[in-house]
Amino acid sequence: MPYLKSRFPLAFLPTPVHELKNLSKALGGPKILIKRDDQTGLAFGGNKARKLEFVVADAIQKGADTLVTTGAIQSNHCRQTAAAACMAGMRCELVLAGKEPEIPQGNLFLDHLFKARLSWQTASATEKELEQLAESLRRENHKPYVIPIGASNALGTLGYAYAMQELKEQMQALQLNIDYIIFASCSGGTQAGMRLGAELINFKGKILGINIAKLDQLNGTYEECLATLSHDAAKVMGIQKQFTPKDFSVNYDYLGQGYAIVGALEREAIHLLAEKEGILLDPVYTSRAFGGMLDLIRSKQFSKNETILFWHTGGTPALFTHIEKIWNE
Ligand SMILES: *Cc1c(COP(=O)(O)O)cnc(C)c1O
Repeated sequence: MPYLKSRFPLAFLPTPVHELKNLSKALGGPKILIKRDDQTGLAFGGNKARKLEFVVADAIQKGADTLVTTGAIQSNHCRQTAAAACMAGMRCELVLAGKEPEIPQGNLFLDHLFKARLSWQTASATEKELEQLAESLRRENHKPYVIPIGASNALGTLGYAYAMQELKEQMQALQLNIDYIIFASCSGGTQAGMRLGAELINFKGKILGINIAKLDQLNGTYEECLATLSHDAAKVMGIQKQFTPKDFSVNYDYLGQGYAIVGALEREAIHLLAEKEGILLDPVYTSRAFGGMLDLIRSKQFSKNETILFWHTGGTPALFTHIEKIWNE
């Protein structure tokens, strides 16, 4: 990899990779591996830790004292940003979508433990609204640093470009080859980073994002946004590389009843992986992506001698906010 941008250590890396032997056997192939970014360590782990390493390093360099971001009520990104702010000795301001519940649970409970200051509105904040909040903080003599939803900007995207290098070293050590990487894709930094990383390490497998929800505020199609993110992240690394929407594979077949609505697909995935492997999926992202992968396997989209890597992106705290929906079968 060409150029190491400074990073603020937040994640326990490398995260483990291992085989899901019981599950692969139960399904009758293909070989399924898992990469455990649910174990990145930052306040119950998840994929935002890798992105925030680059973003928070930039905030520190710019002399910021407050991280400002936005997300859903159970945002994993907001929870990990709040924890990162504590580690960096900064304040954190979160704009959350929805109505403040009387008793905070899951990620929201953790936001409180990390002493994030919360504000509420019907939808997550637009770029403009975050900038207005930053402006009001400046008037109070703070030095805010705005992080977009999901930390999906050029710097955040670097996290998954470097993660591909990490994966390559692990695959060499295990003497394994990967045909498909499958994971939950939503604000795009993860997929854009993997795609850029694939270019840099010469990865020949296919990178398939399972879309979790359509974001309202995209400039263009999701694939166009991914291409821009990969391009911009490459530029930060000092590499000129154009990406086009065709460079990205995104599956939209598993959007179900909408964002954070647990259905049969998510429920079965959570139960199956727990029973076969003792591994927990989250109800919003990874269960939808894993359920999608199971459906693709069962409908014979992969051959038995292929190898799939499921990249677990975290989300653990939200599991405890959907117990009834997951319990009821
Ligand atoms: C944010 C998130 C994703 C999606 O990653 P993007 O980079 O936003 O596409 C997937 N899984 C979990 C658990 C997340 O919190």
